[in-house]
Amino acid sequence: MADVGVNGFFSTKRLGYNPSTHRSTSLGLSVMVLFSDHHVPTSRCPFCENEMDGAANVEGGRGPIPGDFTICIHCAQPLIFLAGLQLGKPKPGEFEAVCRIHKKFGIKMRATIAIIRNLDRKRRSS
Ligand SMILES: [Zn+2]
Repeated sequence: MADVGVNGFFSTKRLGYNPSTHRSTSLGLSVMVLFSDHHVPTSRCPFCENEMDGAANVEGGRGPIPGDFTICIHCAQPLIFLAGLQLGKPKPGEFEAVCRIHKKFGIKMRATIAIIRNLDRKRRSS
């Protein structure tokens, strides 16, 4: 099955990025923030309430559109872009179902979740 049209993202705070304050965090997180190259309207994660205004396409392509999935860089929860690119909670099982159908999408999104969780662990332990 082709994966045409299925793009995954992760969400970050884009305009708040400050290299001097990020120097102490891991290189990986800084790189992820820098790659958040699509500016989206400011929206709060419905799980952790952190504000974000950036989105990075895990494929390195287009910007997000309503219906695309994204991963919160703060809490690693799968989110969905709603109308106006506001961040919403996916319906129960919705993200997992898309991951099952679109294998490449699923692998990249699960890898992104694992990377964010790993960075978070390092942040907490340092
Ligand atoms: Zn969150």
